[in-house]
Amino acid sequence: MSGTRKALVIGGSLGGLLAANWLRQIGWDVAVFERVPDDLASRGAGIGTHEELLNNLRRLGLRVDDSIGVQVGTRACLDASGREIRRLDLPQFMSAWARIYRLLKDAFPSDRYRFGTALARIEQDAGGVTAIFTDGSRERGDLLIGADGIRSTVRELLAPEVQPRYAGYVAWRGLADEWDFPPAVHAEIFDQYSFCLPEGEMMLSYPVPGRDNDTRPGRRGYNFIWYRPTGEHEELPQLCTDATGRCHGMSIAPPLIRPEVIARIKADARALLAPQVAGVVERTPQLFFQAIFDLESPRLALGRAVLLGDAAFVARPHVGMGVTKAALDAECLAQSIQAAGDDLDAALARYDRERRLFGNRIIARARRLGAYIEAQQKPAAQRAAHECQPPPEEIMREIGSMAVDIHALTA
Ligand SMILES: Cc1cc2nc3c(=O)[nH]c(=O)nc-3n(C[C@H](O)[C@H](O)[C@H](O)COP(=O)(O)OP(=O)(O)OC[C@H]3O[C@@H](n4cnc5c(N)ncnc54)[C@H](O)[C@@H]3O)c2cc1C
Repeated sequence: MSGTRKALVIGGSLGGLLAANWLRQIGWDVAVFERVPDDLASRGAGIGTHEELLNNLRRLGLRVDDSIGVQVGTRACLDASGREIRRLDLPQFMSAWARIYRLLKDAFPSDRYRFGTALARIEQDAGGVTAIFTDGSRERGDLLIGADGIRSTVRELLAPEVQPRYAGYVAWRGLADEWDFPPAVHAEIFDQYSFCLPEGEMMLSYPVPGRDNDTRPGRRGYNFIWYRPTGEHEELPQLCTDATGRCHGMSIAPPLIRPEVIARIKADARALLAPQVAGVVERTPQLFFQAIFDLESPRLALGRAVLLGDAAFVARPHVGMGVTKAALDAECLAQSIQAAGDDLDAALARYDRERRLFGNRIIARARRLGAYIEAQQKPAAQRAAHECQPPPEEIMREIGSMAVDIHALTA
C-alpha cells in the first residue's frame, strides 16, 4: 500500500476505540473525534462479556486477565417469594463498560483522541473524505468510520432513511455497591447471575467490577437490568418528563427522572421480584432506564465512510453482544483492508457483506428473545406462539450466549 493511510473515527466510545486500535494495528494513522468534552469513564453500566470479546482484545495485544471482570459460575432463577426454582451452571465474566473503555483508551495515543469535537458534515470525493466539525474545523482522511452510536450523525447524513424502531419496552438499570449488601442477601445471591421472571418481564442481576473497576471482594458492584413493557405513546413520554413538565423525548438524564417515578419502580420491585433482588433495587443510589430499540442498516459501506458498532446495528441487549459485535466489526474492517491491499473499495464491500450478515442474524435472535416482552403491548389472544413467555430454563440458557453457541449465527 502506498503511504500511510488515514482514518477518521467519529465517536470515541467502545466501538470507536475498538476501530481505532484495530486500524492502528495494521499501520494506519488514526484520529478519534468524540463529541463529549471529557473522559467517558464515568459512564456506569455492567457489561456481560463473551470469550469472543476477550479473545478479540487479546489479538489486539491488550492484557486481558481476571481483573477484566467478575466471574460468575451459575445462573439461578428466583420466584417472587425468593425461592430458587431453577439453577444452571454457565460460567461468564461480567465486566463494566468503564473497565473496557479504560483498557482501550489507555492503549491509544491520547494526542490522536480529541474530546469535545462533534461531526456536523461529511464531504466525499474520488480521493477521500473530509469531516467538518461543529466548530468549523476540518479533517481529511482516506476513510471515515461512523462509530457514533444509535443516533449516529454519520448515518443521519449518509442514510437518513435508516431509523431505530422502539421495541415496546425499556430496561431499568442500576449499579449497587457490594459493601451495602446485608450479609444474608450477599451470601444468597451476590456471586451468581440471578433471574426473576414476572409475567411479561425479565430481571437480570449479577456482580461486576465496582468503583475504579475494583474486582476485590467487598469492593465490587452489582448490576441489574429490568426489562418492562412500556407503551410508546403515553407511558414512555411520561417516564421521560421531568419535574418541570418538560418531556425529553425517548430518554432522560438519570438525575431528572421524577422522584414519584422512582418510588413507583421500587414499589413494583417489592411486589413482583424476589425480595433479595427487590432490596437491591431499593438500595441502588441512581436508577435509570433506556428504551430498547432495533436498528438495522441495509448498507454499512457508504462511499468512503462505514458504519460500525451501534451506529450500524443495535440488537436488543438480551444477546449481551453490543461490545462483542463492535469488536468483531472492527477486526473484520482491519482484516478486509489488509486482505485487499490497495483496493479500499473491495475491502469496504467485503466488510459490508460480512458484517451485515452477522448484524441481521443477531438482530433476529435478540428480537426473538424479547418477543414475549414486546407482545405485552397487545391483547393475549392476539399473541403468536413465539410471543408467549418461554420456560425459565430456556431464558436462562439463551440470554447472553456466545455467538459460537448460536446456531443462527454460525450456520
Ligand atoms: C440496557 C443495555 C444493556 C446492555 N448490555 C450489554 C452487555 O451486557 N454486553 C454488551 O456487549 N453490550 C451491552 N449493551 C450494548 C453496548 O452498550 C453497546 O452496544 C456498545 O456500547 C456500543 O457502543 P458504540 O461505541 O457503538 O456506541 P456508543 O457507546 O453509543 O458511542 C457512541 C459515541 O459517539 C459519540 N458521538 C455521537 N455523535 C457524535 C458526533 N456527531 N460527533 C462525535 N461524536 C459523536 C457519543 O458521544 C458516544 O460517545 C447494552 C445496551 C443496553 C441499552
